[in-house]
Amino acid sequence: MTRITIAKGDGIGPEIMDATLAVLKAAGAALEYDEIEVGEKVYLSGNTSGIAASSWDIIRRNKVFLKAPITTPQGGGYKSLNVTTRKFLGLYSNVRPCLSLSPYVATKHPQMDVVIIRENEEDLYAGIEHQQTDEVIQCLKLISRPGCEKIVRYAFEYARAFGRKKVTCFTKDNIMKQTDGLFHKVFDEIAVEYPEIENEHWIIDIGAAKLADTPEAFDVIVTLNLYGDVLSDVAAQIAGSVGMAGSANIGESCAMFEAIHGSAPRRAGQDVANPSGLLQGAIMMLQHLGQNAIAEKIQNAWLKTIEDGIHTYDIFKEGVSAQKVGTQAFAEAIIARLGQKPSVLKAVEYRDGAPMNLPSYKRPAPQVKTLHGVDLFVHWAGTSADTLAESIQKLNDGGLQLSMITNRGIKVWPEGFAETFCTDHWRCRFKMKDGSELSKAHIIGLLQQAEAHGIDVVKTENLYHFDGTPAYSLGQGQ
Ligand code: NAD
Repeated sequence: MTRITIAKGDGIGPEIMDATLAVLKAAGAALEYDEIEVGEKVYLSGNTSGIAASSWDIIRRNKVFLKAPITTPQGGGYKSLNVTTRKFLGLYSNVRPCLSLSPYVATKHPQMDVVIIRENEEDLYAGIEHQQTDEVIQCLKLISRPGCEKIVRYAFEYARAFGRKKVTCFTKDNIMKQTDGLFHKVFDEIAVEYPEIENEHWIIDIGAAKLADTPEAFDVIVTLNLYGDVLSDVAAQIAGSVGMAGSANIGESCAMFEAIHGSAPRRAGQDVANPSGLLQGAIMMLQHLGQNAIAEKIQNAWLKTIEDGIHTYDIFKEGVSAQKVGTQAFAEAIIARLGQKPSVLKAVEYRDGAPMNLPSYKRPAPQVKTLHGVDLFVHWAGTSADTLAESIQKLNDGGLQLSMITNRGIKVWPEGFAETFCTDHWRCRFKMKDGSELSKAHIIGLLQQAEAHGIDVVKTENLYHFDGTPAYSLGQGQ
């Protein structure tokens, strides 16, 4: 018996959880439950995190958490429990299978069987934002080597464990050469360890277009947090229904399983909701726990139920469906088919295999880091880069010299274009006149001068070389 944590959530949550638990019980899942309260009630009791401290203890003790959707109240500083849970528990991998069930669930893509593996902790979702000038706000995109290594290895291990043939990486490294570039580089490094699995990289824009148009060209997709967030919803939707997909959030020690949809408050308490999304989450959970035979039995019974045309309202279609059922009756139909397999849809076979090889990240020896310049970001309401350059050049001292000014990344000095639109947020790049390294003391001296000259520096970024290679972007047009 494995003891797991469950939360019935809000809206349709309790109904779809009861249906899911009934199927798990009937299938003989070796599970015991600790139930916790999360979501609306907890939020409205004044706890802006939506979860009590004592519930964290239970989640951390049991390590596996099956969670129904919750309602996040609008406004009022309530924090998304999903984001908090993922980050607190280090659930770095979000796994979302998107499978067509044609002809039983309407889709333009009858052959689709794609698994999106999304990095879950980093990227713009670090949520580090600052307004720096009247006109410009920044959000930091943080990408780390351990973050990339963990998610990319997870994708290849997943492909190996589930008999998948290909892993595709989506990035935008033609533009973000450092951040997305690292993700792509790590993908290439790790891919060679899995010669039996095909690998490929697509730029996210054309890759997303191809996915929306020809999803059968893809198998497993691994990508960064923001792209994965958007694409996994697109993929679930074009497979047939967002109401049918589940997702797994996997960390080094804990894991959380859920439906991808929300709490659908308008459908609550009417016994109409489709429990399939949460059930799919629960099936992934059983596989995670090594209860593969039970997972297989439930998945095949679920496929057979769909194939027999026993459908909830959201997928019901005259002429295709045989019977419109509610939440409970749908669960009972699955239970009645436990032990059966679909005949038109492809039956699944979940074999016990070796556990996934997901080593903890080992920090490599530090690289040689040298300082070669500094970017001063300046708040200035003028419009002429030449005028700004004139006053900024007065700061040049200690061997530093202004080498470039950009505005929103595009070079505007020297030799800018009059047509370039400029905001009040200017990046002034300084390097040593003789090309030598500088020290932090040079930067402090520069900042002191800027202060004395009434230049409003809103932030600085150091320009480093790592092992001799410049590790910062050039100005666009430079
Ligand atoms: P939603 O997913 O709850 O609903 C979108 C649409 O899909 C609605 O028409 C709904 O009736 C339908 N739907 C969703 N699940 C269904 C199911 N199982 N069976 C049948 N129909 C289903 O999205 P929303 O309306 O944008 O959000 C409602 C609430 O859910 C919000 O408070 C939101 O913050 C929350 N939410 C929670 C989670 C989560 O806990 N993981 C995820 C998304 C949204």
